[in-house]
Amino acid sequence: MQDYKMLIGGAWVGASGGESFETENPYLGAPWALVPRATTDDVDRACEAARKAFRAPSWAGLTATARGALLRRLADLIAAEADRLAEIETRDNGKLITEMRAQLRYIPQWFHYFGGLADKVEGRVIPIDKPGMINFTREEPLGVVAAITPWNSPLMLATWKLAPALAAGNTIVWKPSEFSSVSALEFARLFEKAGFPPGVVNVLTGFGSEIGERLVSHPHVAKIAFTGGDRTGQSVYELAARSIKPVTLELGGKSANIVFKDADLENAVKGVVSGIFAATGQTCIAGSRALVHRSIQDEFVGKLVELGRTARMGDPLLETTQVGPITTRSQFKKVLDYIDIAKGEGARPVLGGSQASRPECGNGWFVEPTIFADVKPSMRIAQEEVFGPVLSVIAFDDDEEAIEIANDTQYGLAAGVWSQNIKTVFTLAQRLEAGTVWINSYRATSYLSPFGGYKRSGIGRESGLTAIREYLQEKSVWIDTIGEVANPFVQR
Ligand code: NAD
Repeated sequence: MQDYKMLIGGAWVGASGGESFETENPYLGAPWALVPRATTDDVDRACEAARKAFRAPSWAGLTATARGALLRRLADLIAAEADRLAEIETRDNGKLITEMRAQLRYIPQWFHYFGGLADKVEGRVIPIDKPGMINFTREEPLGVVAAITPWNSPLMLATWKLAPALAAGNTIVWKPSEFSSVSALEFARLFEKAGFPPGVVNVLTGFGSEIGERLVSHPHVAKIAFTGGDRTGQSVYELAARSIKPVTLELGGKSANIVFKDADLENAVKGVVSGIFAATGQTCIAGSRALVHRSIQDEFVGKLVELGRTARMGDPLLETTQVGPITTRSQFKKVLDYIDIAKGEGARPVLGGSQASRPECGNGWFVEPTIFADVKPSMRIAQEEVFGPVLSVIAFDDDEEAIEIANDTQYGLAAGVWSQNIKTVFTLAQRLEAGTVWINSYRATSYLSPFGGYKRSGIGRESGLTAIREYLQEKSVWIDTIGEVANPFVQR
C-alpha cells in the first residue's frame, strides 16, 4: 500500500500525531492506500502557512496576469495527467472510469477560464457627489479560503472552488473527503509543478468530524467554500456565523425529472435513466424523482424498467461497466435502508430493490438499480436524499400539479423537463424552484454556466463569470483633492 503525505506550506508531511488511515477501494471492498490523519494542530499549521503565503510578495506581489498564467500552466499539467488522475479517483471512490476520465479531461477548462478572467476583474470610478473627491473601488481577495469537498466528484468539485479562488488572489486550505484523499494529494503535486509559491495551496487529509470544526472556525480563515450534505452544510454555516465568515454552500438535492405526455418518450426514458443511474445515483443533481403524466405512466415505467434492466454492473475500471459500486460502506447501508423505508411506506418496487449479488460485483458495495412506482409526494422516499441508484416515480394529472409536486421539497438544486410544447417548457423554466433547469436534457454542466442551489440546496454559485465574485470583496477608496479638512465635527 502506498503511504501518502499531505501538503502544508510547501512541505510534504505526515500528521503531527503520527497517525495515518486506510482508504478503501469500493469495488474490492479493501484498503489500498494510507493517508495522514490530520489533527487540529495540523489545521493550525496549514492555516498559518496559507496566511503567510497570502501576505508574501511571491503571491501577493504577482500581477493578476501572472496569476492567470500560473492557472493556465496548471491546466496544461492537469490535461497531461488527466487519465492517470481519473484512474486514481476510480480506485478511491468506485465511480466509472469512463465518467472520471471525462471529468478529468474537462477540468482544465476551469483553470483556463478563471486564469483568463484573473486580470479582467476591474474596479469602478464612481462620479461621486462630493466636490474635490475622487472615489474608486478595488476588488480584493478575501484571504485564506477553506475548501471542503465531498467524495463523489472529488477533483471536479474542488476545481470549482480552487480555480476562481486562486484567480482572485486568495490562498487555500483544502480538506478533501476522507473517502477520496489520494487524488487530492496527487492533484496538489501539479500546483507545485506549475510554480505556485509554497503555502498557496495546502491539502489536509483527515476526518471532518476531527478537523472540520477547527478549520471552519480558525481565525485565519476568511471564507468557507463547502460541498457536501445539507446537515454538514448547516453545521458549517452555523459555525461560520459565529465568526461572521462568508460561505458558499453546495448541498444536496431531490431533483425532479418531469415527463409530460407530449414528450419524446425515447429521449425522456434515456434522460431519466441517466439522471438516476449514472454515477450510481451518487450525484447531487441526481434526478431521483420522475414525475410522469398519469396518462403515459404505465408505458413510461415499462420503458424505464426495460432500459434500467440492461445496465451492466461491475468493475468501475472496465470501459463497459455502466453502474458501479456505492462509494462507502455507510452509504451502502444507507441506500439499502432507504429501500426498506420505501417498501414500508407502500412504494412498489418495479426494478431492483436489493443489494446486487451478480458475480461481476464481487465483494463490492453494489445496489441493484432500483425503481419504485406508486410513490406519493409525502413519502420519505420522495422527500429525502438517498444518494444512490433509487428512483421514485410519481404520477401527476396536469401542469399545475407537476409544478406543485416538483417544488414540494426542501431542496432546489436542479430539475429536468421533457416536453415538446414551448409554452410548457417556458412556464416550467420560470416556475421551478431550482438553481438549474434542463429542458429535454439532463446533467449538463459547464465552466461557463453558474451552478448552485435554491432553498436547502445551498448558497452561492460556482462556475461562470459571477463565480469569481464569491472570492472577492469590494473596497471603496476616497481621495480628497482639495487638501483642506472642513469642519471636523460634521460628516462630509
Ligand atoms: P459530507 O457532508 O459528509 O462531507 C463533505 C465534506 O465535509 C467532507 O470533506 C467531510 O470530511 C467534511 N465534514 C464532515 N463533517 C464536517 C464538519 N463538522 N465540519 C466541516 N467539515 C466536515 O458529504 P459527503 O457524504 O462527502 O458527500 C455527499 C453529499 O454531498 C450529498 O448530500 C450530496 O448531495 C452533496 N453534494 C452536493 C453537490 C453540489 O454541488 N450541490 C455536489 C456533490 C455532492
